[in-house]
Order: sequence, then structure tokens, then C-alpha cells
Amino acid sequence: MFIGQDSVVSIHYSLTNDAGEVLDSSSDSDPLTYLQGHGNLISGLERELRGKQAGDKLKVRIAPADAYGEQDATLIQEVPRSAFGANNSLEVGMQFQAESNHGPHTVTITKMVDDTITVDGNHPLAGQHLNFDVQVVEVRTATEEELSHGHVHGPGGHHHHG
Ligand SMILES: [Zn+2]
Repeated sequence: MFIGQDSVVSIHYSLTNDAGEVLDSSSDSDPLTYLQGHGNLISGLERELRGKQAGDKLKVRIAPADAYGEQDATLIQEVPRSAFGANNSLEVGMQFQAESNHGPHTVTITKMVDDTITVDGNHPLAGQHLNFDVQVVEVRTATEEELSHGHVHGPGGHHHHG
């Protein structure tokens, strides 16, 4: 069957940036299983997979607007070191949960100059083109329960307990 709205799709994939660095891959694990058309994957990748079937391979390059968005300069802030309290082990690359008007989100320390710390609330992949190498492993129809939850159950999907 072909991938369409509400298909349950299993894929093997590798994700590289434009520098050729592998950012993520399913090669050492089970395939990724997702529910098509429910925002489980970035929109650009779902669009490219629509109409494909098991066995198909594709290489696609997704623009930031169809992936994790452009960099938002307003999410980059300089804060005093004292904002981190007694934490003396700060270093570039560390991530923290921060509260915002839109709920908790992750910020990353991107620069440290003396007592001024620059934190970036953008998604780490914001502003980047994403290159996917994908193989479609399996396509099936979603169950009623999966559709009501908006995600896949069973192998490669969510497991509910109790
Ligand atoms: Zn569920």
C-alpha cells in the first residue's frame, strides 16, 4: 500500500547536515515507526514520503521552513552568570530547561565571556537544511486507537501501561 493520511509507516533513515556530518540514524536500531499526517515527523519529510511504498528509497533535502524553522534571533539572550545560581560547572553546549510563555523549552549555552552567558532557545537544527536518506520498510493501516491517540502503538511506537 502507498503512504497516505493515517498510514503507519516504518522507515530506516540517516540524517546529515550540509557539512556531511551524520546527526541521527536508525541504522543501529529498529526502524522508526510513525503515523503519517499527525505531525509526528517534520512536515517536509512527511510530504516527501507521501505516495511511497515499502521498499522505496529516497534521498531528500529539506529546507528549514519545512523542518525546524529558521533561527529566531529573539530566542538568543545574554544573561548574567548569577542567573545560574551556584552552578560553577557551566560550559558551552550545556542544555537547560527554561520556562517561557509557551511552556518549558530547552536552551543551550552557546557562548561564555567573563560573567556573560549567551543562551539560545532555538531548536539545535533550526536554520539548517536537513538531508535524509530514507528506506521505507513497512506501510500499514492505523488502528482506531492509534488514530484517536495521534501516534503509533506497539513495536517502534508508544507503549501505554496501566
Ligand atoms: Zn497511545
